[in-house]
Amino acid sequence: MEKIKLIKPSFSYSDIESDFKNIFGSGIFSNGPYCKKFSCALSEFTGASHAYLTSSCTTALWMCLKLLGVGPGDEVPVSDFSFPASANVIEDLGARPIFVDVCKDTFNMCPKELEAKFSSRTKAVMFVDSFGNPSNLLEVKAQCAERNIPLIEDAACAIGSSIEGVRCGQIADLTCFSFHPRKLINCGEGGAILTNNNKWAESLEVQLQHGSVAADFRREFVALGYNFRLSELQAALGLRQLQELDALTAERNKICSSYNSALAPLGFILQHVAPHAFSNRQSIVFIVPKNVDRNGMIQHLRHCGIESSIGTYSLSGTQYNINKYGFPNRVSIFLQDNTLTLPCYKSINTDKVIEAVMRMPTTSPTNSSKHQHY
Ligand SMILES: *Cc1c(COP(=O)(O)O)cnc(C)c1O
Repeated sequence: MEKIKLIKPSFSYSDIESDFKNIFGSGIFSNGPYCKKFSCALSEFTGASHAYLTSSCTTALWMCLKLLGVGPGDEVPVSDFSFPASANVIEDLGARPIFVDVCKDTFNMCPKELEAKFSSRTKAVMFVDSFGNPSNLLEVKAQCAERNIPLIEDAACAIGSSIEGVRCGQIADLTCFSFHPRKLINCGEGGAILTNNNKWAESLEVQLQHGSVAADFRREFVALGYNFRLSELQAALGLRQLQELDALTAERNKICSSYNSALAPLGFILQHVAPHAFSNRQSIVFIVPKNVDRNGMIQHLRHCGIESSIGTYSLSGTQYNINKYGFPNRVSIFLQDNTLTLPCYKSINTDKVIEAVMRMPTTSPTNSSKHQHY
């Protein structure tokens, strides 16, 4: 029986073979022409003036916070429904993540909730494009601009997404992408930082090269710095896939529509994308109906040879954060417990997935207290 995976690479070895041959031929594996081309292509694709490659989105986010001087005593409001890395980087620098509950329809930071979380200690805000969805970003951007607080966008999932035709990468003050295999551009591992701010770009340029600038026959180490670089092999992978990204996001939106037409009538609620926004649908995520046990559904699909997963995590609901900060937020916990990600890749057999979902036995709503809907 053919297994259906959650995601498959959108490229094959033959697509990349000639680039790898070039790299092996040249002997340049780091800081070479592919990294240069990939970062230029990212800035061209997004419209952001500057793009820097990093080893992951996590290091990219950490670097941005560090750049802004985030440290002990500072607070950083962060979307509460995300991968835990979004909050870990804030903690790691000694600052306090302020978990902002999300909207139940878009799964993104709720502007009204954010309004109540600003304080004199707020040093930056971290907005997460949940599963690639940039809805609510402009509202949050306006709230930050009004207070002169920098906005970092954890766009780990959102490359290729846009609002009113403006791509993620030039909307927030600093935008971070991920090139992890679970995301739409897969470099094995990898990330990027994008910004239009020339001053920050200058600092990033230095800090991401061990704190150094080029000098005659050597480098001059003018600041404290780091190595979070991507290799040439990884950059070659990224560059290839970026060329196909718009076709890929269009395809994913089509697959998403087929799922939604079949499942919405059964009570599955698809993550909402605001009318002016475009989501790359990095993950296709539904809230399951009241009478469906989410974990039971994942188990059932696994028996049918179909890989699915939970949506993502309530950050305020991780063991670590509950122990440290107390009660989790209501909506993010609800979404953590009741969302389902369905598989999506080029030429997937959606009918097979839909049929399997429909064969799932439902429970009586009265005995499923765990699945309280708000
Ligand atoms: C995947 C992901 C990350 C982490 O990205 P890495 O490149 O694996 O470090 C961070 N935030 C969000 C929202 C993610 O989905």
